[in-house]
Amino acid sequence: MSFILHGIPVSGGIAIGHAHLTAPAMLEVIHYLIPKNQIDNEINRLDNAFATVRQEFEILRTSITDGPAVAEFSAFIELHHMILDDPTLTDATRDIILQTHCNAEWALAQQKDVLLEQFEAIDDAYLRERKTDVEQVVDRILKALLGHPGYQPPPSKQLGDHILVAHDLSPADIMQYKPHQFIAFLTDMGSLTSHTAIVARSLNIPSVVALHHAHQMILEGDSLIVDGSQGIIIVNPDKYVLDEYRLRQSQLELEKQKLRRLKSVNAVTLDGKPIDLLANIELPSDLEQVKENGAAGIGLFRSEFLFLNRDDLPGEDEQFEAYRAVAIQMRGKPVTIRTFDLGADKNLKHVPQLAVNPALGLRAIRLSLSEPQMFHTQLRAILRASKFGHIKILIPMLSNLVEVNQTLSLIEYAKQSLRNDQIDFDEQIQVGGMIEVPAAALSVETFLKRLDFLSIGTNDLIQYMLAVDRVDDSVAHLYDPFHPAVLWLISRVIQSSHRASKAVSICGEMAGDIQFTRLLLGLGLQQFSMYPAQLLAIKNQILKSNLPDIMPLAQRIIRADNPVKTHHLLARLNS
Ligand code: PEP
Ligand code: MG
Repeated sequence: MSFILHGIPVSGGIAIGHAHLTAPAMLEVIHYLIPKNQIDNEINRLDNAFATVRQEFEILRTSITDGPAVAEFSAFIELHHMILDDPTLTDATRDIILQTHCNAEWALAQQKDVLLEQFEAIDDAYLRERKTDVEQVVDRILKALLGHPGYQPPPSKQLGDHILVAHDLSPADIMQYKPHQFIAFLTDMGSLTSHTAIVARSLNIPSVVALHHAHQMILEGDSLIVDGSQGIIIVNPDKYVLDEYRLRQSQLELEKQKLRRLKSVNAVTLDGKPIDLLANIELPSDLEQVKENGAAGIGLFRSEFLFLNRDDLPGEDEQFEAYRAVAIQMRGKPVTIRTFDLGADKNLKHVPQLAVNPALGLRAIRLSLSEPQMFHTQLRAILRASKFGHIKILIPMLSNLVEVNQTLSLIEYAKQSLRNDQIDFDEQIQVGGMIEVPAAALSVETFLKRLDFLSIGTNDLIQYMLAVDRVDDSVAHLYDPFHPAVLWLISRVIQSSHRASKAVSICGEMAGDIQFTRLLLGLGLQQFSMYPAQLLAIKNQILKSNLPDIMPLAQRIIRADNPVKTHHLLARLNS
């Protein structure tokens, strides 16, 4: 059956291929149908999983023999045992497999939903709460069925046309998928500026997020068209639709080819103002794309990606090698290394996320200052690499001057330790700060006195200004870069930096979104840093822009007092 799904488009282009359903970030259930002659095996698989969990409970029961909470613990195991052996779980799940021929995980997930619904309807609050126990038991059985799935290669024989369909993917998951040749990503969860979306964009393949039920509705191997620019997914399209999209695909390819001619053209406005177009990268392996698109340097190296998907921390030498490789390959062009922005949605594997509000918690520079040894290791690695190119240090999520001063002291301490070890580094290395907390933006003059340059992280600045979690798609409609307060504050930071004769860039997603290019030029921005695949499209827009025409309109936009007027003026600006 053919149907269409709509989501938030996060990375443009058209992909045509087949669905591969997975997502190791959570206990994710893969859906597929079992051939008739394999049904008995599938039921055995389910029975074995139940048996494994029964054994696990047995081991748990015998391992707790004394201690203050033995009685409670035994009661809890008893309850879970009862749930495990209840026919509404065992027999009913078997029946689903027998009747619908779906795989065991899928059948179990369906029966779990049925049971949870029944629990929801119970009046007694205590009994209603027992649904958590049902969830825990079912998750244990699922784990036993899945083992630790990790990456599972798609079963389809047509290599090179796989479209990953997941309920949710963390930035770390996407990094894991990088080497596997998926041609598009789809997720039920997510929003435009979540780190998952940012990493998907850096892969330069069409991606659509916030599809809500795609992972339930799409089946393994389904034929799919992904329109990453419109956020549209067509499942099992007919021949005519396929032909139409193949045509659009080749038109897009032609446009891309045209843009490629701009690679070595300087980014200058019609009235002669040179603009720096820089690239955002996550790993040294992104440099190929950076070079292909003729970036003037790296405006944001999200160094925390070196820390993800591993059990240990990268040591000083390993980090040094990574930073040096980037510095050397960029041949004297600026390389802005942001110190690790861990926390929130980018976490070390062995550190559980316990914060109630991770985006407001121990993240970025706050974490660095609370882990001085880990920070010192990184600072030494960056400083050592600074001898091999034009490296700058960028500090994320600053909110007050104390953090600035502490960071500068730690950089000085790292420099002194290298001097003591007689290791060379760039003594004049520039240190800049990210302006992504509203308080920092509002007191930017004091930051400018202590820092060499600024970079506005609009992804977080908007999240914190509007109190909208950037990873939560239920509030994605409130995430509004056009909010007058947002535009006014960005303009203020740019103007203050100019007055202090300090460089300022934007490295949030706004910088790579063509609908903002003229507006930001009009507000005085001269440095844009973005995911590499977008560089040439933004350059094309700059080459067609005339600052004397743009500036008055940009001023009117930031003073506009209603959204209709803003969008009307913006349409004029971009026409
Ligand atoms: C930002 O917040 O705009 C930014 C560039 O940093 P990140 O997206 O990595 O949080
Ligand atoms: Mg940020």
